Amino acid sequence: MLTLKCLVTGGAGYIGTHTLIALIEAGLQPVVVDDFRNGSIENIVHAESITGEKIKYYNCNILDRGLHDIFKEEKFDIVLHFAALKSVAESIIHPLDYFENNISGFINLLKNMESVGVKKLVFSSSAAIYSDKAIAPFSENAPVKPVTPYGQTKRIGEKICEDLVNSGAGWQIVSLRYFNPAGAHKSGVIGDKPKFAPTNLFPVLGEVVTGRRTHVDLFGLDYDTKDGSAVRDYIHVMDLSEGHVAAIEWLLRDSINDGSFNIFNLGTGIGTTVCEIIDTYIEISKTKIPIKKCSRRAGDLPIVYANPKRAFDILGWKARRSLTEMVAHDWNFRIRDL
Ligand code: NAD
Repeated sequence: MLTLKCLVTGGAGYIGTHTLIALIEAGLQPVVVDDFRNGSIENIVHAESITGEKIKYYNCNILDRGLHDIFKEEKFDIVLHFAALKSVAESIIHPLDYFENNISGFINLLKNMESVGVKKLVFSSSAAIYSDKAIAPFSENAPVKPVTPYGQTKRIGEKICEDLVNSGAGWQIVSLRYFNPAGAHKSGVIGDKPKFAPTNLFPVLGEVVTGRRTHVDLFGLDYDTKDGSAVRDYIHVMDLSEGHVAAIEWLLRDSINDGSFNIFNLGTGIGTTVCEIIDTYIEISKTKIPIKKCSRRAGDLPIVYANPKRAFDILGWKARRSLTEMVAHDWNFRIRDL
């Protein structure tokens, strides 16, 4: 069992909260830094009730000077960096906000890590960095050319990580490229419910099935796919969270980690169309989900799914939960809002 102290930036948000559970189950001690712009203390409290462990948290923006005091106080062994803005659509309208938060915030975090000698990091990256020339299934060496400012921030974040590792100053960094995290913890007490209007499919579906939204906007039904809707690699958020534990365990095994910058796709390797997800949701929830056909959305690639082989070969991790579990657990979570 691991007993290390782990800073989780953005640990009150969707993926961060689920990862708190996976970390505690693996014997790690997470400490959250979040400014709660999109996360909540309630999420942390739910993670406490699921795990039976108290979780320390700080209300702090990662751009703030106060971060330094937290690093001096806590003596972290490793950092998981989730805190970021994540809406592809919003990033096209407000690119500066994205560069400030996701790049300047990240640099401030890294400088604080360096100042106290913490050099182990797991970075939250995204499939949004792949080029529209990449052909699914995407392996980690598929061409990278983000088409949106959000994707750019993740690409630049990875470049910074790579340069740090190559500096020879002892940084050990893993970047995890998430495909489409979805679903909820099986307890149904935590899930994906952003404070701002959601753009990801599952929280949008959640608003429709609980009567908070009249319909789902279906962006593009003219893709060259089996039903015309886009294909994505939806991965259960708990599988994704467990991928972080696998990455940490691997980072800590110095003998295996060869000192290079490592990138891993976290996906299932299975492509599912947006229409298939909606049909599965209707079947499981037994609710009506009206759709509105809309034109394609800027920045959306037609077919995106992972080749997750590298994560399995090196980290020993693979997604275990089915699409049915993903939808059923999400529905468990939405029922609370009925
Ligand atoms: P989220 O918005 O639910 O969580 C992010 C958390 O970070 C929030 O609690 C927010 O309050 C906090 N935060 C943001 N900026 C901050 C700052 N400057 N200082 C302190 N706290 C700050 O998002 P999520 O879905 O949990 O995503 C987590 C990470 O995973 C992000 O880096 C995101 O880019 C990445 N990612 C998410 C997806 C997805 O579909 N959800 C896909 C690929 C990558």
